[in-house]
Amino acid sequence: PKKLVSKNSLIEYRKQHLGKSLSLSYKEPLKIVRGSGQYLVDETGRKYLDTINNVAHVGHEHPKVVDAGKKQMAILNTNSRYLHENISHFAKELISTLPPDLNAIHFVNSGSEANELAIRMAKAVTNEKDILASEVGYHGNTNICVDISSYKFDGKGGNGAPKHTHIFPLPDTFRGKYRGENAGDLYAQEVNEQIKNINKKGRNVAAFIIEPIISCGGQIELPKGFLQKAYLYTRKAGGICISDEIQTGCGRMGKTFWGFQLHNVIPDIVTIGKPLGNGHPLAAVACTQEVANKFANGMEYFNTFGGNPVSCAIGTQVLKTIKQEKLQENALKIGQFLKTELQKLSLESPIIGDVRGQGLFLGIELVDKDLNPLKDEASYIVNRMKDYGILMSTDGPDYNVIKIKPPMVFNIENVKELIFYLRKVLIEDFILNYKAK
Ligand code: PMP
Repeated sequence: PKKLVSKNSLIEYRKQHLGKSLSLSYKEPLKIVRGSGQYLVDETGRKYLDTINNVAHVGHEHPKVVDAGKKQMAILNTNSRYLHENISHFAKELISTLPPDLNAIHFVNSGSEANELAIRMAKAVTNEKDILASEVGYHGNTNICVDISSYKFDGKGGNGAPKHTHIFPLPDTFRGKYRGENAGDLYAQEVNEQIKNINKKGRNVAAFIIEPIISCGGQIELPKGFLQKAYLYTRKAGGICISDEIQTGCGRMGKTFWGFQLHNVIPDIVTIGKPLGNGHPLAAVACTQEVANKFANGMEYFNTFGGNPVSCAIGTQVLKTIKQEKLQENALKIGQFLKTELQKLSLESPIIGDVRGQGLFLGIELVDKDLNPLKDEASYIVNRMKDYGILMSTDGPDYNVIKIKPPMVFNIENVKELIFYLRKVLIEDFILNYKAK
């Protein structure tokens, strides 16, 4: 039998025997064998600068995080029906980053599980089923999560919104329904319209869920005032406000530790994932005492792996490392520098329509002069940047937004290298000829 080592044999095996609904990154897929800091290394020893991986938050294979996991794994790993200080230490560390009211924690293993639990909590607390969610929002891969993810059910293979999901327009001020000064209010009105629709059916709201910057939707920053108003309307209707911080949390925004803090609101439930375990499957749901108490209605919530001592040792070390290495401050400083450089680039290149985002969570939207999305150009740039040793990705419903969300140890030199090659690729024939096509 053929050995499963070469790229071709791995691709062939995967086609036949692994999940068939997952695409690989890049036209020429990569085989990655090692990670370190903000770099990934392929099987030939070639080093790539990683601008995509917001999971390797404190850097790929951070030695302190690896060590914390290794040590605890050699001693004990069990479920959380036994007492153990790791779970309490981790909860305490996490609570110290949140507003005082959000001080009850449930540990789970993935972002999807976190949102799944958050929605269950909202339903249990309100005795309602109806969920308000954004157009092209993505909240995970489970049944409930797909049911509230317009990015999935409105896309290929989807069947549209289920009965209890109510979608409001993407609050995009660049290409969306409303632009300009009053956009925040107008988009919030749309949320209120959905609430009225629910009320007309004799029902009320269980939850309103959104990311503070809509990531899969194309790094859409919520317009000023939108979230405050949307929370107000939701709460008036008896609903629970959930902030999905799975991509935006843990200091990535630079100015604030959590994305909702950019908007001066306090959610009832916060879901936390990706960066929390730095690659180890670890996620959490933080909520108020009131929500946690009402959810504890007699039915137990047991999670075999959630909150195990190994995961908790790792998570605690991740949070400590963010503080010790001042990574939130780094995200602010480096993110601002990167955004400014990208804005300069946008003045040179007619296809960069918008540069947006916060901290180390940025997006570059490629459009023609009529604001039509330039998907092929985005794909071309990402593949060419790979040739130059820089990994980037596209997203958004039209795949015309290049997302930048690197490990938080990204530095000034990395920004300069990124900008140097972007500038080079942006004047290649394929890009310059876009108008001719
Ligand atoms: N919410 C958001 C905003 C996400 O980006 C993701 C993952 N892309 C999830 C939830 C689901 O997380 P996971 O893949 O860890 O289940």
